[in-house]
Amino acid sequence: MLRKSKQTMPAMPETTKADLTESARVLAETFSVPVPGIESATKYVTSYYGIRERAIFFHSDHASGDKVRQDMTLCHEMAHHIDAARNGLYLPGTLRFRRRWHTPTFYAILRDVAQAWYGDAKRYPWHMEYPLGKRWALARGLMDPVYANHLVAYTLRRRYDKATREIRHLLNLQSIRPDCWSTHYAGKLRRAEKAQVVASKKLQALAEKGC
Ligand SMILES: [Zn+2]
Repeated sequence: MLRKSKQTMPAMPETTKADLTESARVLAETFSVPVPGIESATKYVTSYYGIRERAIFFHSDHASGDKVRQDMTLCHEMAHHIDAARNGLYLPGTLRFRRRWHTPTFYAILRDVAQAWYGDAKRYPWHMEYPLGKRWALARGLMDPVYANHLVAYTLRRRYDKATREIRHLLNLQSIRPDCWSTHYAGKLRRAEKAQVVASKKLQALAEKGC
């Protein structure tokens, strides 16, 4: 979780820091890795794992906000810590390397951390993960079917909107530039109309399930 910002944030209260340090110690012991540092994030707009510092930097909202977000952040960043300890990854540790942080290996570690922390990996809020994490969890039956359906509905809605935009664009082209209209565009229009109908039908089926 890395996003750069110039904004500075308040430090977390000492009691929160002590609680999080104890939680991190328990998890580190479970996974036989060194205990990571627990620090307040001041440089970024979200929480992150600092590879050089071997520390979890908590955004103030995640440290002292709701417990769901605090637990999620702890598990997610602990998984980075374990991944780094086991696999020696992320060394340059810059934004450029962000994509390599959230790999299937990382998500397999996160599942194990979630299993240890919640007693059931399904209790981790997978629906709040990055897209790859959501897909990874969905494929392994870890995500609540309600959230899984929301995810499918979201993708379908995007597909529907894209087809709708394409149709509008092509009909506009047909009316204002009939000289440009060709079988190529007619084919595109047919495909967009079909995509729109298919997405619409699937969305309707999901709506009947209450999504
Ligand atoms: Zn991350």
